[in-house]
Amino acid sequence: MSASLSEIIKRRISQLGPMDVGEYMALCLSHPDHGYYMTRDPFGSQGDFTTAPEISQLFGEMIGVWMADAWIKLGSPGPFALVECGPGRGTLMADIMRATAKVPGFREAARIHLMEISPVLKAKQAEMLSAYSPVWIDDLEGVPADMPVLLVGNEFFDALPVRQLERRNGQWLERVIGLGEGDVLAWGVKDADPHILAALPERILKDGADGIYETPVPINHFVKSLSNILLKQRGAALFLDYGYSKSKAGDSLQAIRSHRFVDVFDTPGASDLTVHVDFENVRRVAERNGAVYVGPVTQAEFLRAMGIEIRAERLAANADVTQGDSLRAGLLRLIDTSVPESMGALFKVCALCHDESFKPAGFP
Ligand code: SAH
Repeated sequence: MSASLSEIIKRRISQLGPMDVGEYMALCLSHPDHGYYMTRDPFGSQGDFTTAPEISQLFGEMIGVWMADAWIKLGSPGPFALVECGPGRGTLMADIMRATAKVPGFREAARIHLMEISPVLKAKQAEMLSAYSPVWIDDLEGVPADMPVLLVGNEFFDALPVRQLERRNGQWLERVIGLGEGDVLAWGVKDADPHILAALPERILKDGADGIYETPVPINHFVKSLSNILLKQRGAALFLDYGYSKSKAGDSLQAIRSHRFVDVFDTPGASDLTVHVDFENVRRVAERNGAVYVGPVTQAEFLRAMGIEIRAERLAANADVTQGDSLRAGLLRLIDTSVPESMGALFKVCALCHDESFKPAGFP
């Protein structure tokens, strides 16, 4: 029998020394044989978690309206690249295409590109989106270079690895994972790499309180490449994710299995490991690379501004009682702000665009 991911990680640590949190996350999520996303479809009540597109068709419809509006603002270019990062089961893209079916020329102009790492989810997407001949890409280099780009990522950033820096008594360290007594995974620290530290904002490097600060190296690469693409080819991108508006201290790494939190060291590869997204960091990297950053607003503010309540009422008016109730329940969940952990409040939305004059819908 082949080694478990836990054994593989421990062997690596005993051979090469403690690993940083980013490497641990990457192995747990995307190890070719044992990575969480590589081996399963994690969504739904039978799975580990549920996402907005899986909760209600209204979500994807609003993103479709956003896309159609952005496309028209670009001058209705044909062709254009319609890119989704981390498309899950393909539900969001299917809803986008359904919602835009009556926008003259949109469907014919859209060249759908799906950036997806999981073979299992690629197969689901192929089934769901067969009518639109999507193309799968590994990274942004796969986006066609000769057309405008409209891109969306829902719960994509939270799946990308972070490194965790720690300020202790004014000294900067990096959190690492090593082996403790009895050969179990255990937290440790090493000196912080100046190159990794440099990604934190000045104010935190100078005067930050003691605590853990997360820095998402792959997001920073991604936002940099995306900014370059948008500037060169024109276009816009929309990101929706749980996270915070301003960079701050906090360990947000969490593991979820069957809709419950579990220890991040518990059976590596068997639970979804995610982090909260630092939207101010996205802004910093985008602006440093010349792109225009808009937002963040909460998911509730964004979806309301896109007209989700009117759309829900219109659909409910033509539905039977059960369908109407389920539409309203889905709506409520998407825009609920009753506690800070409610989807409408915890989730933030931001957009990147090529130019100040491009005013994406859904933002004040
Ligand atoms: N957007 C979907 C799925 C969110 S879950 C929804 O809202 O339902 C995260 C998605 O990102 C999954 O499809 C996962 O397989 C994909 N993913 C995770 N890491 C990735 C990476 N490095 N590159 C591309 N896709 C990735």
